Amino acid sequence: MFYRSTRNSDVNVTSAQAIAQGISEDGGLFVPSEIPSVTMEDLKKLGEMTYAQRAFFVFSKYLTDYTEAEIRYCVEGAYNTKNFDTDNIAELAHIFDGTYMLELWHGPTCAFKDMALQILPYLLTTATKKIDLDKKVVILVATSGDTGKAALEGFKDVEGTEILVFYPDNGVSEMQKKQMTTQEGENVGVCAIKGNFDDAQNGVKAIFTNKEIGEKLAENGMMFSSANSINWGRLAPQIIYYVSSYAQLLKDGEIAEGEKINIVVPTGNFGNILAGYYAKHMGVPVNKLICASNANNVLTDFLTTGVYDRNRDFHATISPSMDILISSNLERLLYHLSGENDAQIREWFTALAESGRYEVTDDVKAALKEEFCAGYCDDDRTKATIKEYFDKYSYTCDTHTAVAVTVYEDYVKATGDKTKTVIASTASPYKFSGSVLSAVGNNADCDEFGLVDELAKVSKLPVPKSLAELKDKDIRFTEVIAKDEMKDFVFRSLNVK
Ligand SMILES: *Cc1c(COP(=O)(O)O)cnc(C)c1O
Repeated sequence: MFYRSTRNSDVNVTSAQAIAQGISEDGGLFVPSEIPSVTMEDLKKLGEMTYAQRAFFVFSKYLTDYTEAEIRYCVEGAYNTKNFDTDNIAELAHIFDGTYMLELWHGPTCAFKDMALQILPYLLTTATKKIDLDKKVVILVATSGDTGKAALEGFKDVEGTEILVFYPDNGVSEMQKKQMTTQEGENVGVCAIKGNFDDAQNGVKAIFTNKEIGEKLAENGMMFSSANSINWGRLAPQIIYYVSSYAQLLKDGEIAEGEKINIVVPTGNFGNILAGYYAKHMGVPVNKLICASNANNVLTDFLTTGVYDRNRDFHATISPSMDILISSNLERLLYHLSGENDAQIREWFTALAESGRYEVTDDVKAALKEEFCAGYCDDDRTKATIKEYFDKYSYTCDTHTAVAVTVYEDYVKATGDKTKTVIASTASPYKFSGSVLSAVGNNADCDEFGLVDELAKVSKLPVPKSLAELKDKDIRFTEVIAKDEMKDFVFRSLNVK
């Protein structure tokens, strides 16, 4: 198995190279040369295993250049109860008959990003050793709120790395901001930019692919890599929990062998749902992948019409981690669906960069319809769903998860589909306490930590220790810059002249 670039099929690198580099020099994303398979026998066996063992199984298929010992070191370092507050690592909560919430937020920063970012530093430092890269790796991150903190927590004080995070000044929740600006560690930097997530992501991509900046870094013994889901090392770990969920449902007798399930994912950069696509094409029986968006519904339109058009108003919503108009990982999906047609990908993504719009071919449109359903909802409906699930099922969901639940209920109403369904629950409600409380009719007027206490009273959920501790931490990072000053910030932080 090797990895190609979506913009040049002749690129041919190992997984270690792809993970160390983050993005291909041509601006394309790394994709596996084939999708490995998992059989029903495998899934039955996986049911008897721990999460770390299931992860070992999936990684062995994708990271074929890593030794067994290396993979074992990575999965055991990441997926344990020092880092996660549950033995199962990813919990599968039973909401009502045939509907399961895949709780991906039991890690140290309380969002699903931990599932990948707890292991990425292990995968990456192992990769740099394997390919004898004696450079310091500088991780650049653009975040809509959750990736930044999860990446900081994963990479803090990891030898041979430095991490710099950019977040949109007015685009993250109070708790998310506090998590990032109080970050500890000697190798970390955090900076707000005047702009939205797309500006941050475009800025980071431009720095990555700028030859001059790259050479300057090399002169100083450094190289860039990425902890965003453009890095294959972020995607691969996300495939695991879909494979794991199926194995678990099978073991628990919730589904029969071969029975198909739906997967619903609240989507922003299209990474999490793409991991579901890979799981399906490995052989996990999946009926529909349901893509849920908030008012920034560019993906809903794209999946239903085949026209991607980012020329529209940007909405700041109560599910800020999904406030995205350019979904990077779509590029990987389109590469697969177009028959690995790199010329076609270059054409579409050049058009996206230049005019903000492209339209896929009829074949690709048909393939999209076959694999995906899509829907969106606004903040009012998101809140109504939080209240409904709180009242009816005593289940408290965060704002992002509630978008997924709303879109799923719309889907069931429209189709009558009774397929059993796994809904990806992507954040702890405590990360968005104010919005969740107001949704259930509690308009407590207090600071962020007062809101946390209030939410603890009504939800009866334990407050994650990592969030409670933030209250007494000092703010370390206060800088706010214009979006065209990102390069200067990077050079300054790295002492590069
Ligand atoms: C990042 C994030 C999403 C979106 O996931 P993508 O992989 O970018 O599609 C959804 N919910 C939460 C809470 C997130 O942090």
